[in-house]
Amino acid sequence: MKVPDIIIAVDGYSSTGKSTFAKMVAREFSFLYLDSGAMYRGVTLHAMENGMIAPDGTIDEAALSAVIEDLDLHFSREDGQTKLMLGGRCIEEDIRTLAVSSHVSPVSAIPFVRAYVDRRLRAFSEGGRVIMDGRDIGTTVFPNAELKIFMVADTQVRARRRFDEMAAKGQDPVFEEVLHNLEERDYIDSHRETSPLRCPEDAFIMDNTHMTLHEELVWVLGVIQGKFGLLEAPSLTW
Ligand code: C5P
Repeated sequence: MKVPDIIIAVDGYSSTGKSTFAKMVAREFSFLYLDSGAMYRGVTLHAMENGMIAPDGTIDEAALSAVIEDLDLHFSREDGQTKLMLGGRCIEEDIRTLAVSSHVSPVSAIPFVRAYVDRRLRAFSEGGRVIMDGRDIGTTVFPNAELKIFMVADTQVRARRRFDEMAAKGQDPVFEEVLHNLEERDYIDSHRETSPLRCPEDAFIMDNTHMTLHEELVWVLGVIQGKFGLLEAPSLTW
């Protein structure tokens, strides 16, 4: 029997735990997980490494638009993990630095960058069950997604989670800088002209400020079973 195409769109503010949540749902319900923010980070990394972003943050849009269609950004699946590749190079680590985080929102506000990423995301999602996280998945990339989830959490808690994540990777973060970067990205993401961050009208809202991952799984299990009925349930043994 053909598996129906199902798209779950997970949107929300920076560091609300969207990717951790989406990866867990992907694992438990056998969905392909795609991280749209990684694509914007990949474009930003390429621009930074090729001198298209000046020290003051000015972006050379003409230079970027000249190469963007040739950028071979794609996802590769290894050991059950989806990793972002730029040509033959895995850039999964390089795109997660604070330097990339501090330039990614202005880059992702450029309409031709959004058009490029949207096209790639739709192409990767053909067939099967896909869960994708980002800022405009339920509003722009897949406005007809079968299920839309919008995640929110207290700003200090989000900054602390991001700080801990970076420290665990040995990145030596400064809390105030992490908090500032998060607030700045939230502002740019929700105020840009093209596809601003908005809660889709038909989204289920999850505030996970005080939720554990297990509580998030129980929450989404209820939502998914209510919505799709027939999806097999995870064992919930952990
Ligand atoms: O999700 P993540 O924090 O990695 O995303 C990095 C940045 O990419 C966001 O701050 C936002 O500026 C941009 N983005 C976006 N639209 C998406 C996903 C991410 O504009 N769908």
